[in-house]
Amino acid sequence: MPHYDLHSHTYHSDGTLSPSDLVMRARCNGVDVLAVTDHDITTGIGEARTAADAAGVVLVPGVEISVTWGAQTIHIVGLGIDTDDACLQAGLVEQLRFRDWRAEEIGRRLERKGIHGACAGARARARGVLIGRTHFAQFLAEEGHARDVRDAFSKYLVRGKPGYVPGQWASLPQALGWIRASGGQAVIAHPARYKLSATRLQRLLTEFKESGGAAIEVVSGSHSRDDCLRFAALATRYDLMASCGSDYHGPEAPWIDLGRLPPLPESCRALWTSW
Ligand code: AMP
Ligand code: MN
Ligand code: MN
Ligand code: MN
Repeated sequence: MPHYDLHSHTYHSDGTLSPSDLVMRARCNGVDVLAVTDHDITTGIGEARTAADAAGVVLVPGVEISVTWGAQTIHIVGLGIDTDDACLQAGLVEQLRFRDWRAEEIGRRLERKGIHGACAGARARARGVLIGRTHFAQFLAEEGHARDVRDAFSKYLVRGKPGYVPGQWASLPQALGWIRASGGQAVIAHPARYKLSATRLQRLLTEFKESGGAAIEVVSGSHSRDDCLRFAALATRYDLMASCGSDYHGPEAPWIDLGRLPPLPESCRALWTSW
C-alpha cells in the first residue's frame, strides 16, 4: 500500500525547507503521496509539484486554513484544492491581511515590554510573504529573550502572554466554502491539540459535518496512540473519513519526521479511498 503523509509545511509559511527539499525528504523517507499544506498560502505548490514529478512522488496540493471557532483557533486542512481558484485565493488574501496587521500588533505589544524591532526581526526571518508567530519565536530565541522557539511561544506568544493577539480568522463555514469551491476536501487538523471539552468537540464535529467537512486527521504527528484511537471512534460516529499527516515543519522542529506515522486504525475509512 502506498505511504501517505497529508500535512506538511515549507518556508512559504513557517516550515524551514524549500518545497523541493521537502519533496526530497519525503522521497527519502518512503512517502509516496505527499500533501504540502502551508498555513493560509499556496505559493509553494508550484515548486513542490515540479519536484514531486521529478522524484516520482504524488503531490496533493493543500493548504492549512486558520479558523476562529468559538473564540478559539482551529486549523482546517484543505486537500486536492485547485490553487488557481479565485474564491479560495480571495479568502486567503484576507487571511494574509489579518496576519500582516497581527504582526504589527505583536510588534507593538512586545515593544511595550521593552523588546525592540520584533516585527522587523520576524519579517526578516520569513522566507515568503507570510508572517507567523513562529517567525517571532525565532527572533525572540535568537535575540536571547527565550531559550528556544518553544520557550518563546510559552513566554510571549500564547494566550495570556504579552505578545498574544487573538485571532480574527475565517469562520468554519467560510473556510470549508473556500476549500470546497476549489474542489478540495476539508480535514480537521490535529484535533487533540485544541483540548476541547466533550460538548464543544461534539459541536465542532457536528458543524464541520454540516458544512461539508470530509475527514478528521486521526493520525497526526502531535497525537498520542490514545488520541488516535479516540478520534478514530469519533470519525466513525460522525461518518467522517480519516486522514494522516506528520505536520512536519523542518529538521529543527521537535515534532516527528516527515512520513514517520503509524497506520490508520483498522476501523477507519481512509480519505484516499474516495480519490
Ligand atoms: P500562527 O498561525 O502564526 O498563529 O502560528 C501557528 C504555528 O505556530 C503552528 O502551526 C505551529 O507551527 C507553531 N506553534 C504553535 N504553538 C507552538 C508552541 N507552543 N511551540 C512551538 N511552535 C508552536
Ligand atoms: Mn506551523
Ligand atoms: Mn496546525
Ligand atoms: Mn500544520
